Amino acid sequence: RVKEKGKAHFQFYRSEMNSFITNIVELETNLRKAIDRNELTLHYQPQIELATKKIKSYEALLRWNNHELGNISPADFIPLAEDTGLIIPIGNWVIETACKQIKDWVDKGMEDFKVAINISPKQFQQHNLLLKIRYALEKYQIHPSFLEIEITEGAMQDTEDTIPILSELKELGISISVDDFGTGYSSLNYLKQFPIDVLKIDKSFVDDVLSNEKDAAITTTIIHMGRSLGMEVIAEGVENEEQAKFLLNANCHKAQGFLFARPLPAEEIEKKFL
Ligand code: C2E
Ligand code: MG
Ligand code: MG
Ligand code: MG
Repeated sequence: RVKEKGKAHFQFYRSEMNSFITNIVELETNLRKAIDRNELTLHYQPQIELATKKIKSYEALLRWNNHELGNISPADFIPLAEDTGLIIPIGNWVIETACKQIKDWVDKGMEDFKVAINISPKQFQQHNLLLKIRYALEKYQIHPSFLEIEITEGAMQDTEDTIPILSELKELGISISVDDFGTGYSSLNYLKQFPIDVLKIDKSFVDDVLSNEKDAAITTTIIHMGRSLGMEVIAEGVENEEQAKFLLNANCHKAQGFLFARPLPAEEIEKKFL
């Protein structure tokens, strides 16, 4: 009996495993075609200056809508894109599309804003990342100061590849932001080595900033440290007024989160904020 049960379990497990593998293969096959099929879009989430409540910038976030699979979250397909190398063409598409959007907004009279794009650590291993960015800026005739790039602490493991690229980007006038700050494996040493302009306090610290003393202390400390280093500090995942008030009192420059706005298609941004 036990044996039979074990066998049944194994078969059940095997079929689950098969469908899991089928899903990944299916996902990859579809992701390969996503750019050509025009299934990718960028949504834009406002970043607000806490003291004035004014929108200062927008984070560009990838959205993938597949005709068979529906909407797939970047949390699910970005890791797959990184593992398969697809993050390179997808990342290039993001750079190109964000620059095109900036140009369109500038033409429509939008002033004094930035668009932040997420750059995966894998993209820094491609030696033409800098070229791709410069090419897109030139193609759409936009000033580099409209662009911000968000890197994760993962990109900072590889100082030899990353520092020269970041330094050149910064020299061009692009600002550099550290995403999910405080959740990676890096040491504080990189704040000294890398040309960083902005620290983004990870949502995981912001979530319980009102109820958890440690989260509150970490958040306040990141703000002080960032300010002392001449950086701008932005809090991610702000969902209620009380969190926003805490952050303002703690002297945090900016905030981003559902309290202010969700990531929205470009047309919605124009309708609401232009
Ligand atoms: P991230 O760069 O840290 O982006 C912030 C994520 O938090 C976004 O999730 C955003 O929708 C979500 N968010 C913002 N405010 C709130 C809030 O108040 N509450 C909650 N619950 N969530 C909030 P999203 O769009 O699902 O993206 C997830 C991650 O996927 C991003 O995290 C980023 O790591 C990656 N990603 C998205 N677009 C790109 C891209 O173009 N390139 C690369 N390399 N990665 C991307
Ligand atoms: Mg980001
Ligand atoms: Mg983040
Ligand atoms: Mg994140």
